[in-house]
Amino acid sequence: MLSLTVQASAQISPHFMSVTLGGDDVQYLEQSGYDQSGRLFFADPEDDDVFLPSSERWILQLTLRGSKQRPHVRTYSIRRFRPESSAFDIEVSLHESSDPQKPAAPGNRWALTARPGAKVAFLDEGYSYAPVPGVTWQLLVGDESTLPAILAILERSAGTLPAEVFLEVPAPEDIRSEITAPPGTTIHWLPRSDPRTKPGVLALQAMKQAQFPGGRFYTWTAGESSLATGVRRYLVGERRIPKSDISFRGYFSHGRASL
Ligand SMILES: Cc1cc2nc3c(=O)[nH]c(=O)nc-3n(C[C@H](O)[C@H](O)[C@H](O)COP(=O)(O)OP(=O)(O)OC[C@H]3O[C@@H](n4cnc5c(N)ncnc54)[C@H](O)[C@@H]3O)c2cc1C
Repeated sequence: MLSLTVQASAQISPHFMSVTLGGDDVQYLEQSGYDQSGRLFFADPEDDDVFLPSSERWILQLTLRGSKQRPHVRTYSIRRFRPESSAFDIEVSLHESSDPQKPAAPGNRWALTARPGAKVAFLDEGYSYAPVPGVTWQLLVGDESTLPAILAILERSAGTLPAEVFLEVPAPEDIRSEITAPPGTTIHWLPRSDPRTKPGVLALQAMKQAQFPGGRFYTWTAGESSLATGVRRYLVGERRIPKSDISFRGYFSHGRASL
């Protein structure tokens, strides 16, 4: 469990905030890259007496505290390491609440208000990206919650497997231009034109309609849970892809707050 502080934050496009987290504890973080992610523990800006866990036994530590002292916990990917300043960046996708009666999502509120010096805790949970031997290209499918992970995967695998990427974002202004990726990579940016469309629907549809290159391929997919499970179900059921060639994970469930 790393004790860190916010070092900087910046809005990088209408629906993305970048937050730099750093401190001496970064020396204990194994920098595996790819879709490496971890649990972030943070307090609302107005809460001074929130307890941040100091051990991997955080569930026990938090259970022993009253509910008002417990921090929020959300999972974020490590977008890039900054070893020169003992820090790393995460990128938080900003999403509007579908129900204006409900309070703003804690992760979004934190990203928008985090100021340098604010304390957080971070527990590394590793990565899942694991291409199987013998594949000649990779298929990456996700929505905005996976944009940091997909860009980090492309950077880390530059020079190796060419990728076909289906990446859905909330708006055209969220499309990134300078990307490091393996030669032969094609990124299909899929901005949503209607904000009421459920995240992941466009990416799943586009992937299903795509003409794939030939040869055996590895798939990494994540995002809204129907997207991740939908991609896997389609590839296994319709394209007869072995389950072992697919890594998938739901990053959030539409309409449900993360625990
Ligand atoms: C391994 C892993 C890595 C992840 N990496 C990242 C990352 O790098 N960046 C990132 O932004 N997210 C990432 N996520 C997803 C993030 O943890 C969830 O989106 C989380 O729910 C955000 O918390 P919140 O407080 O903003 O919203 P919550 O309080 O959890 O949810 C409130 C409401 O917003 C909806 N919602 C939640 N997230 C989104 C979204 N992204 N788009 C649209 N609606 C949403 C929920 O369905 C719910 O209705 C990752 C998740 C996992 C499991």
